[in-house]
Amino acid sequence: MRFHLNIEILEAFVTVLMIPTFHLLRHNTFAKKILPHVCIALITTSLVFDWYSSGLLAAGTVINAMDFLYLMIVLFDRRFLLTTLIYTISIFVVFLSSGMVNGEMNYAPLFNLANIGYPNFKNNFWLASTLYSSVPPLIVCVSLLSTILTQWRNRENYITQLSQRDGLTSIYNRRVLTENLMALDQNQSQLPYAILIIDLDFFKSVNDTYGHIVGDHVLIDSAKLIQQSIRATDILGRYGGEEFLIIIQDATMPDIQGVAERCRKALADYRHVVDAKSKIQVTCSIGVALSSHHDNVMHVLDSADQALYQAKINGRNQVCLA
Ligand code: GH3
Ligand code: MG
Ligand code: MG
Repeated sequence: MRFHLNIEILEAFVTVLMIPTFHLLRHNTFAKKILPHVCIALITTSLVFDWYSSGLLAAGTVINAMDFLYLMIVLFDRRFLLTTLIYTISIFVVFLSSGMVNGEMNYAPLFNLANIGYPNFKNNFWLASTLYSSVPPLIVCVSLLSTILTQWRNRENYITQLSQRDGLTSIYNRRVLTENLMALDQNQSQLPYAILIIDLDFFKSVNDTYGHIVGDHVLIDSAKLIQQSIRATDILGRYGGEEFLIIIQDATMPDIQGVAERCRKALADYRHVVDAKSKIQVTCSIGVALSSHHDNVMHVLDSADQALYQAKINGRNQVCLA
């Protein structure tokens, strides 16, 4: 017990010494390569000594070893993990195991059963040390794991968001639209659906007159206005430069006419702020097509496109049905 305590004090002393030393050497290229190995070797040695002292098969030892391995995987590069494993296993195999098997070393000298009495679980010292060596590392590891999982989920959400959303307007991008369009053909229920293509009128002249930055803001505002004019179940995405596409499922003609007219009116009524003095109106033309039985989605899309073309010819700022 006294020997073990002296080693613990030495470990604490070395740890305190390591902090300023490692800090001073943090920019040294050679030290950067070698110090993680030194650090891991020291930690491993101290842990293996604890494991030896309290017995290789003790609950504290097993929990500690698992936590240690897990921390290594999370915090260090895989190369360092390999060093650790080779180092730990060689100490185990070469010194501890063979020493015990050959009778040169006692098993769990810290809990000498002759001294603490048997059964050991009736001994407060054994119980307290087992709790001391297993509960704190377990708490640290569980909270670390939960932090990492939270970060992981946040990052996954962020990446999903990046892959599905248009970088400018934050509505769905072309890929999501295409996936949803393709899925319409797979749908067995054959409920009618509608495709709306919305194209901003004379948008090139907005860019030419006020510049691309104003043009971008008009696109962002337009996307917002359209989003506010549809239901949460309708799918809105940016189909191309200044073209938006809406997929409406389980649709009837009066419904869709209502949605299209709401979108058109929302854009026509809105005034985009250019600067303190000027505001501009940017209208849109909308082509609408409703699927009928066994219609191919490409055919419906083409009909909506032709209807849009008709709306442009008819004078823009209007809805045209295929
Ligand atoms: P029409 O009424 O016939 O649709 O005329 P239009 O000017 O809207 O049509 P056109 O297809 O000639 O022009 C579309 C313009 O949209 C051209 C392009 O510079 C602009 N555009 C496309 N993507 C973006 C973008 O991300 N930002 C900005 N600012 N402009 C864009
Ligand atoms: Mg266009
Ligand atoms: Mg246009």
